[in-house]
Amino acid sequence: MPLSHLLRLLAALLTLTTAAVVARMAWTEWSDYGRAGVAIEAVAQLRLALQAAEMVSRERGPTNGVLGSAAPAPPERLRALTEARERTDRSLDALGQVMAGLDHDAARQDAARRYLAGRLALREARATVDRVAALPKAERSAGSLEGAVTGMVAVVPTLAPAIAILANDAQKAYPPLGDAVQGARMIAELREYAGLLGSHFTAALTAERPFTADERAQIERTRGRIDELRFLASLRVQLPGQAGPVMQAWMRAEAQYFQVAQQIVQAVLAAGASDGRYGMDPAGFAARYVPEMNTLFDLRDGLLAEAATMARAGQSHARGELLLAAAAAVLLLAMLAAYLAIVQRRVLQPLAGTTRALEALARHELDAPLPRPQADDEMAAVIGAVRTLQTQVRQRQTLERERDGLIERLRDLSNTDFLTGLPNRRAFFQAAQRDLAEARRHGHCAVLVLLDVDHFKQFNDTHGHAAGDQALVEVGQAIRRAPRLGDAVGRFGGEEFVLMLNHCDAEQGLRFAERLREGIAQTALAGANGASVMRVTVSVGVTSTDCCGFDLQTLLSRADAAMYRAKRAGRNQVMQADPVDAASATTV
Ligand code: GH3
Ligand code: MG
Ligand code: MG
Repeated sequence: MPLSHLLRLLAALLTLTTAAVVARMAWTEWSDYGRAGVAIEAVAQLRLALQAAEMVSRERGPTNGVLGSAAPAPPERLRALTEARERTDRSLDALGQVMAGLDHDAARQDAARRYLAGRLALREARATVDRVAALPKAERSAGSLEGAVTGMVAVVPTLAPAIAILANDAQKAYPPLGDAVQGARMIAELREYAGLLGSHFTAALTAERPFTADERAQIERTRGRIDELRFLASLRVQLPGQAGPVMQAWMRAEAQYFQVAQQIVQAVLAAGASDGRYGMDPAGFAARYVPEMNTLFDLRDGLLAEAATMARAGQSHARGELLLAAAAAVLLLAMLAAYLAIVQRRVLQPLAGTTRALEALARHELDAPLPRPQADDEMAAVIGAVRTLQTQVRQRQTLERERDGLIERLRDLSNTDFLTGLPNRRAFFQAAQRDLAEARRHGHCAVLVLLDVDHFKQFNDTHGHAAGDQALVEVGQAIRRAPRLGDAVGRFGGEEFVLMLNHCDAEQGLRFAERLREGIAQTALAGANGASVMRVTVSVGVTSTDCCGFDLQTLLSRADAAMYRAKRAGRNQVMQADPVDAASATTV
């Protein structure tokens, strides 16, 4: 697999892995975010439910006020009752909307039914209250008063299922809220029992008589439940290290309800256990007791506020984590893209360019462009090495060309006679043997012509060695010009020259030799001072393959013998070899 594909594959795998991890992180945080949002809403709904219960409870205060007054009750007490009832109704309506929006599982349907039953019960309880309150005070029996109060008290438990469901929803959606939500629920219940305790006093306080045995039993049960709830709530509220508003509200509730209010309760209980001289009617008791009791609402609200704060903190933490995951993903992808771009720009592209240059080098193309290094890195070193290689190959090629030229020149020099410029004896032998082989192969005939300058020793002696050299040069030129193109010629040694005439028979060879001899004899040679005209003659021996075969040595010795015969016959003439020459050649 090419490196570029492999890198892309790795990058794709890395991207997928990153995406999977980030998606998982994002999904977790997103569900946390959603659950915290659900919890915030559930806490708000729980607050509405607790407030509705609170309003129902609070309504008992003005109710008791009216029940404790002579008919008709004073207008301010009636107005207080009307306002309390309106507040209760508004609060219950708000809870009704929450209930309508809940899912329709069995528990919720039951809670909705209990809520509606509670509203009916409230309406009936209020009617009872109004009926009893309309009676003259003396005609209000203990039973009718208790019935009116009990009807009101019975409404609050109808809201308990709704409160439990909403508290559980909040806790389930965001478990860390558990303590605060359940604590608020317990404190609300505690407040309800605290109010109930006051209600137990109403009949006795109104009639200014001691408590009955039943009343005392109810009072003790309620006080027992209050103590139990106080203990359970303390487990939820008094967490180690807690020093915030909730703890302060708890301390206030302890100081005011469990100290001050309990002193009032103790005083009432003491009077109720003896002569029934309480020194206050239910309204008077409520006026002292209720404000102390209401510190419990602050505690409840503090706990709900803490639950909401925790849920919001959870939500903002989840949002932060979500943003972090998104930022991490973007950063990772950007880094991945940068990595790919760097590898592409600084490794793959230069590598491809360098490969092309190396391939061109292998084809002996030295001018292929090399990529420009992007930085002083490993790739730059590779490119530099290839550039050095290109330079070295270029230099080597130049040297090889020079060497070949020199060899060519040396070969020419070693084959050439330095004086006449004709091929030397060795070069002639090579060419002649090649021609003879060719002639033998194709059945052609060829003629060998051997010339020797006559009395050349004497010429040298007479005209000087330099003139002799010049004479040899001019004879050589005459010999070079004479044959057809491609026929081999050469200086055979000293003042002897030789020619090989291809496609030529003995007769043609003789005529050629004769023309050449005559041409040389007529050539005027300039003397050393350029004035006197000199001439040389040559004696020529001619032999052909027709008579003597294709062996060069044989042809030469026959031609040599013929040439000596020409010398003996008076020189400046041409002699044709004959078979006898073979014997005579060795004797001359
Ligand atoms: P013949 O007619 O019998 O051939 O007489 P010849 O004097 O030519 O024969 P010989 O072989 O006795 O002498 C050849 C002379 O050629 C001797 C030598 O000085 C001369 N010679 C050979 N090579 C050269 C050369 O390169 N330059 C000069 N100037 N003379 C040369
Ligand atoms: Mg000679
Ligand atoms: Mg000679």
